[in-house]
Amino acid sequence: MNGRLLAASLLGTSLLLSSCGGVGDAAREDGENGLIGIAMPTQSSERWVADGQGMVEQFEEAGYGTDLQYAEDVVENQVSQIENMITKGVDALVIAAIDGEALSDVLQMAADSDIPVISYDRLILGTENVDYYATFDNYQVGVLQGTYIEEALDLANEEGPFTIELFGGSPDDNNAYFFYDGAMSVLQPYIDEGVLEVRSGQTDMEQIATLRWDGATAQARMDNLLSANYSDEDLDAVLSPYDGISIGVISSLKGVGYGTEDKPLPVITGQDAEVASVKSIIAGEQTQTVFKDTRELAEVAVSMTDAVVQGEEPEVNDTESYDNGTKVVPSFLLEPVSVDADNYEAELIESGYYEESDLA
Ligand code: BGC
Repeated sequence: MNGRLLAASLLGTSLLLSSCGGVGDAAREDGENGLIGIAMPTQSSERWVADGQGMVEQFEEAGYGTDLQYAEDVVENQVSQIENMITKGVDALVIAAIDGEALSDVLQMAADSDIPVISYDRLILGTENVDYYATFDNYQVGVLQGTYIEEALDLANEEGPFTIELFGGSPDDNNAYFFYDGAMSVLQPYIDEGVLEVRSGQTDMEQIATLRWDGATAQARMDNLLSANYSDEDLDAVLSPYDGISIGVISSLKGVGYGTEDKPLPVITGQDAEVASVKSIIAGEQTQTVFKDTRELAEVAVSMTDAVVQGEEPEVNDTESYDNGTKVVPSFLLEPVSVDADNYEAELIESGYYEESDLA
């Protein structure tokens, strides 16, 4: 019996044989086209749960088995999960890194076993052993956040000064710098002109970064910023790069009395359209988020991976923007969408991303 026939006849019962090893494709718990290792950062944020589920479903439809693992934001866990996938002999790895620079050794192991690697959403840095990158236009995410603040405060026409504080994402995530650069491309000129005032003076990424995108860390920083700089003046805007950070910032603001008619909450951005933040937008607290349809990203990653495994060239639309320090990684970028109270129904409900009842 040849390998393909054997694989077909074993489909579904192949778990039994998974310990045999060494018999090639036929002896693993994979689909007819192979087994894909999917390493995701954490289940603490809904988006990564949706990303993982979306890929498992779509890989199955394309004839692949999957090994989906979450590392709960612990870098060492992610490294050992990937090691296990390599030992199992996966046909490809799809990885959303926790720390973009921490995977060089384990990806050398993957390369030594000829396992291709797709960087998912976050760019893996400092290694040649990453083949393709599936993501959204991360710079544009920041531009959407900055532009939202610009328009909400009508910065182009008002003299201000309006007060603003800035939050950045995790300093070990390459995306955080793209979000920051995109947002600052809009906001920096207004800061320079004095239309926007950052009372804390904290405008550099090193000063505003939020390790692991942690909402509690952001909340604590916001507490400090408010008590040190805003006892005699209200805050008009907060640049937040991620919904979990926005929730922390809003808690801090409400803790000192924002959220009333006399003391309205500032304009506050976000990202990912997580349920809690969309509800907060509907309730008039968070102002905006950036929706990145994880179904589309999963689809891109699955077809990229399928092409690589089948020895074909995946479709890319950017071969310049994402230099990981060792090489420019060919990428496929999807378009993010700005969402607020005016368009959340069209973007999130009519698109089927959420049910109306999810947001009630
Ligand atoms: C992703 C964002 C997400 C953030 C925190 C980034 O790498 O691109 O969508 O909000 O990580 O999980």
